[in-house]
Amino acid sequence: MLKTAQQLITQAAQKLGLDKSSIDALLATDAEHKFEIKLDSGKKLHAYRVQHNNKLGPYKGGIRFHPDVDLDEARALATLMSLKTAAVGLPLGGGKGGIAVNPNDFTEKELEEISRKYVQGLHKFIGPDKDVPAPDVNTNSTIIDWMVDEYQNITGDTSRASFTGKSIKNGGSLGRDAATGRGGVIALSELLEYDGLSDRMLNFAVQGYGNVGSFFAVIAEKYPNWKFVAASDSTSTIYSKNGLNANDLAKFKDSHGRFSNYKAPGVEILSSEDIIGLDVDVLVLAALGDAVTEENMLKVKANYIIELANGPVDKVAIDFFTKNKVSILPGIIANAGGVIVSYLEWLQNKNNEHWSEEEVNIQLTDYMKRAVSNLVKVSKEPGVINLPEAAFIIAIRRLTSKN
Ligand code: NAD
Repeated sequence: MLKTAQQLITQAAQKLGLDKSSIDALLATDAEHKFEIKLDSGKKLHAYRVQHNNKLGPYKGGIRFHPDVDLDEARALATLMSLKTAAVGLPLGGGKGGIAVNPNDFTEKELEEISRKYVQGLHKFIGPDKDVPAPDVNTNSTIIDWMVDEYQNITGDTSRASFTGKSIKNGGSLGRDAATGRGGVIALSELLEYDGLSDRMLNFAVQGYGNVGSFFAVIAEKYPNWKFVAASDSTSTIYSKNGLNANDLAKFKDSHGRFSNYKAPGVEILSSEDIIGLDVDVLVLAALGDAVTEENMLKVKANYIIELANGPVDKVAIDFFTKNKVSILPGIIANAGGVIVSYLEWLQNKNNEHWSEEEVNIQLTDYMKRAVSNLVKVSKEPGVINLPEAAFIIAIRRLTSKN
């Protein structure tokens, strides 16, 4: 993922005529914090926060609790955050962090201890105008509420603008849960309109049916011309050419945890990986990074790939799809709905306001539509070869502009 992000930055920067030192500056991180969390039980955990670039505003990005978290992953994700906030025109920079931990191995009390000790290790480097973390994989509003409380205890800051993704009662924003999925739907709808395909019947498959994938499907299936035919998790793919019910599937996933024992008339259960090769118009990638690579790219039949995960298509596959006229809606725009609403949460906290969900969704829609309009415009500039390159060009222009 880090390699793909760096290759995309380098390629776009070279098209813009930047010299080697300017490209190196774009690739470099501003700061990397690595420390150990010692639990009362004696266990020790590795914790990280990478701050990539704050030229446009405070660093912004999630905190992940996952055994695979390491410095390289945090670097890649922090880099993508700076490019994402720039690509959609937010006055924010990019950061990312996490703890190498499997949350299932710990009690709730220990998770609170871990969350608070993460803030004790980082408090000097974060804050409403320095670095504003948020939830990510395996972290949620409960964890963020503990972190905000710890930050407030240590620093006395009562704005609650030090973190986003808080619970609503603790200053969180309405609309945040659905924001990334909703933003993906708005982006796809805009792109199809530019491509003259708004009225075409299209079917879509969603890899990864967690927060992002399920909200995408629930909102997308309301579009009269779009049919939701497949969804996958790490155990299996559920496929029905007659269409699936997104809400029912989300309820099933919530109560059963996995798709492998799903049963319904007309539904086929395939392997998890099979979703990649289904005969669909739109493939939505909402699970993990590097989901489509040289290994499986030849299987893809879709004409549109929507990157809702961070970095789900690697550089070799992006180049292959470009040759084969498959459009990739790049993650730094397609999945920016979450950070856009995080920005709106931060604004509400700073101004001591609380907006309605309708107001939040209006602003999210405006940001997404503007971003896709700009993306399509730049993709038509001479020499620009695909939508991912256009997205990185937009971001790098903002990150390197003199103003
Ligand atoms: P989540 O943990 O809620 O859901 C992830 C889902 O992917 C789970 O259902 C899991 O079973 C599934 N999964 C894991 N491995 C899989 C595999 N090999 N094949 C198919 N499915 C698999 O996470 P989320 O918040 O929905 O995030 C999904 C992706 O989107 C992540 O890569 C995340 O970094 C990215 N993202 C999330 C947000 C956000 O607002 N949550 C914003 C931007 C990007």
